[in-house]
Amino acid sequence: MNSTRTTANSRAPARVRIPTILQRLHREFPDARCALDHRSPLELLVATVLSAQCTDARVNKVTPDLFAKYKTPADYAAAKPGELEDDIRSTGFFNNKAKSLRGLGAAIRDRFGGEVPRTMDELLSLPGVARKTANCVLGNAYGIAVGVVVDTHVFRLSHRLGLSAGKNPEQVERDLIELVPRAEWIVVSHLLILHGRKTCDARKPKCDACVLADLCPSAETAAGAVAARTKLPNSSRVIPRRNHHHPANEADKARKAKKTETGR
Ligand code: SF4
Repeated sequence: MNSTRTTANSRAPARVRIPTILQRLHREFPDARCALDHRSPLELLVATVLSAQCTDARVNKVTPDLFAKYKTPADYAAAKPGELEDDIRSTGFFNNKAKSLRGLGAAIRDRFGGEVPRTMDELLSLPGVARKTANCVLGNAYGIAVGVVVDTHVFRLSHRLGLSAGKNPEQVERDLIELVPRAEWIVVSHLLILHGRKTCDARKPKCDACVLADLCPSAETAAGAVAARTKLPNSSRVIPRRNHHHPANEADKARKAKKTETGR
């Protein structure tokens, strides 16, 4: 981190910093897009369900064979007991995920004429689908921006960058919707996810090499320190900041979250 440029802009309100943050992330990741391989809204919906508590890379290894075998919602609804579970076993939590896929397959077949619905309310009515999944499908399969996907990376980076102090994904999403122009609602999560993977690691953020260091209130933790240890509230914990400028002093506050909305 270049200490001469550390704090001047990082103390500015999020609303002032966000245009430059987005600009730099766009420059850093000009091809930012959904990391889950898919060719249709159904495939993206299935991949997103599988991505709960699992990496995108792992999901992308499983889905080619899965999508070749299950082509329609009815195929998932009719999957034999145990078979679908085996097909998705390596993504973890396969019993719950298989139950969701059977349920959403049946619901899409019976209630939506076999087509993945295009509204938030309809998507939320499907088994195993909560806001993260619905936002992901609407944004990336249909180009409809009604919210922002908040996964574990988006949650962590929003806190570290001082964009939100929300205690759960829904609160963080509300803050991002206020801050980020609607035209960027879909891509902002891809940008933050890529930045989280490349630079703003959960355990060892590379603040020294970060293109946002001068805009980030957590950069003062510097190399080697664990910056703003915020994590999506799933099986672990949420650590909201007491002081943006001293993230190492954050206090723990445990909270459980909806199982399907945990990070990927
Ligand atoms: S790597 Fe460091 S400076 Fe960059 S966003 Fe993360 S905490 Fe902030």
